[in-house]
Amino acid sequence: MSKKIFEIFEKKLEKLKQENIYRSINDMESRNMMEITIDGKNYINFSSNDYLGLSQHPVVKEAAKTAVELFGAGASASRLLSGGTILHKKLEELLCEFKGTESSIVLNSGYTANTSLIPALADEEDIIFSDELNHASIIDGVRLSKAKKIIYKHADMNDLCKKIKETSCNGKKIIITDTVFSMDGDIAPLQELYEICKSEEAILYIDDAHGTGVLGQGHGAWKHFNLPQDKLVIQMGTLSKAIGSFGAFVCGANIFIQWFINSARGLIFSTALPASVIASAYASVKIIMEDKTIIKKLWQNIEKVMEAIKNLELKTTNTQTPIIPILFNNVEEATKASKIFNDLGIYAPAIRPPTVKMPRIRITISAGHTDRDIEMLVEAFNLLCQQLRPV
Ligand SMILES: *Cc1c(COP(=O)(O)O)cnc(C)c1O
Repeated sequence: MSKKIFEIFEKKLEKLKQENIYRSINDMESRNMMEITIDGKNYINFSSNDYLGLSQHPVVKEAAKTAVELFGAGASASRLLSGGTILHKKLEELLCEFKGTESSIVLNSGYTANTSLIPALADEEDIIFSDELNHASIIDGVRLSKAKKIIYKHADMNDLCKKIKETSCNGKKIIITDTVFSMDGDIAPLQELYEICKSEEAILYIDDAHGTGVLGQGHGAWKHFNLPQDKLVIQMGTLSKAIGSFGAFVCGANIFIQWFINSARGLIFSTALPASVIASAYASVKIIMEDKTIIKKLWQNIEKVMEAIKNLELKTTNTQTPIIPILFNNVEEATKASKIFNDLGIYAPAIRPPTVKMPRIRITISAGHTDRDIEMLVEAFNLLCQQLRPV
């Protein structure tokens, strides 16, 4: 019998390999800002979400060390038992100030946040409207809720409006969107979404994982559009990307946060984040709020890369963020490009269908990239053009 069981999984894995979507993990041996070593080879990392390089900031690292000395390594219990510290509370107060909201609560990861908060918000009689390109954690969160799910075309407000009008709903309407889409780097039309939510009296739930620390002078996508605070808007974000630590948060009206504390299963039934992680997130958010030079550097780096892409007529999406995909006509070209990058010591993954429609190399830019790092990337673009477009 056991032989048969293993055969099932061997077949599944074999199928992935045949379809060219088999995944494996490449762990790094060392890291110094954006320089990483994998399998003894040095690379410049263009695949990290550490948009501000804050995971390497000395003040952020020191904050973690101090917290370990004060509270130890692990949190030892759920937040609702004895796992929380005054540092957790302090971080939540800072996040309220950062996002301009009444209340906030920290969760263990972005994945945990979406799979816990969405089921806490939505019941059987409710309807969730979800962008077709939303993150997998949102998709899973919607599945775990008992609500009816309606997918609208990516960032297509006509399609969303049409679908809302067509649907009768006795319960709550909830619209959920990523603020920045992780594969294309484009920004959701939050102004229009907000207006639709107001006229429909719907809840707007935004996932600002890639917007926090990047858009709106670091405050995120809501600030980017200069939208007002509203009790029906729930802002989720992560501490793991530009903030350079680990974990997630949700900011919004006090009543929602109280309800999450009383019903979000990933908060109640999981050990709290350790104080070190919380302390480094606190230090990072402070830096983002007080030191605008880092964000400025990020946007300067983005500008340089986008200019090179334009000059070389490389194909990209309508990205408006540090997520910059280079698009290819077919998988062969993407694979060839991936090899060119790899040989030059540039670490950026090729992403192929079915993960995305168009094969691409997904580049992410950071304030942690030096001028030399950016020049290297531009050199790689040049070589790419020479080799893929022979004269
Ligand atoms: C990365 C990401 C998450 C998951 O966050 P983690 O803290 O890494 O679990 C959720 N939503 C979006 C849009 C993301 O990009």
